[in-house]
Amino acid sequence: MNQHKIICKEVKRQNHDTKIIRFQNFENDDFNFEAGQFVMLSKEDFVNDKNRPVKRAYSICNAPYESNIIEFLIQILPNGKFTSNVLDFVKSGDKLSMSRAHGRMVLNKKKPKGILLFAAGIRICPIRSILREYYHLFEDIPILLFYCARNKDDFHYIDEFLEYEKNRNFKIYISFTSKIEKKPNEWIGIQGRMNEKFIKDYISNIENINEYETYICTPKKLFELINNTLTNIGLKQDLILHECW
Ligand SMILES: Cc1cc2nc3c(=O)[nH]c(=O)nc-3n(C[C@H](O)[C@H](O)[C@H](O)COP(=O)(O)OP(=O)(O)OC[C@H]3O[C@@H](n4cnc5c(N)ncnc54)[C@H](O)[C@@H]3O)c2cc1C
Repeated sequence: MNQHKIICKEVKRQNHDTKIIRFQNFENDDFNFEAGQFVMLSKEDFVNDKNRPVKRAYSICNAPYESNIIEFLIQILPNGKFTSNVLDFVKSGDKLSMSRAHGRMVLNKKKPKGILLFAAGIRICPIRSILREYYHLFEDIPILLFYCARNKDDFHYIDEFLEYEKNRNFKIYISFTSKIEKKPNEWIGIQGRMNEKFIKDYISNIENINEYETYICTPKKLFELINNTLTNIGLKQDLILHECW
């Protein structure tokens, strides 16, 4: 089936411009996805000038094992066609359409030596899905998450990540570009842009780092910086997967 109907179960405001929206599949629907993938969302009666439904891509934030729930983290853009006219008004009980899942940034199911994750702001969505799925499959693998955003408010799921730090072999390193705000003391990282030194400082000495798998979801320029840094350290290109938007 190419289009799936989903029904909104819950909407939670996250900060000034983002919302978590949870949907459920209709009974007997055959939708499935892999951690890291995205879908195209649309609403039947919200159409373009050719009378076709407006469609936009959204990454699934939760993991495939959490069956029947599909979670999105959505940034509402003030002049954005789909976000400000449709997603900003979605409430419990509303129905949307969803495509099959797309995207090649999906996890390799073999147990890895370790995982590096990189995300910027709202682009944490597919990275969180991968993180949750990996810890469901393999409780003990080392995972490092490098997460950058402008303001403290633009980091998402931080409490969940700090909880993983207490219970799993997990570390989060943040970089934080706002000059006005102060980094919370309990967050490890830098105040400034993510750069080569920041990444190298935390991973150069890790044993078997060249066998780690990497997943990156950032804008293209930042992806290039991260990819070059990792390649210089000796990580294998075929173990670095990304989704840029
Ligand atoms: C693979 C993938 C995964 C994604 N996952 C997510 C996700 O998980 N969460 C998420 O929030 N987003 C995600 N996105 C982005 C999402 O697909 C949309 O692009 C986003 O929600 C904006 O859609 P929109 O219709 O609201 O904005 P659009 O109308 O498409 O506008 C996009 C931008 O252009 C500006 N704009 C619009 N019209 C004009 C104009 N005439 N002149 C100048 N500027 C203009 C708008 O203000 C806005 O900033 C993803 C994108 C991709 C490709």
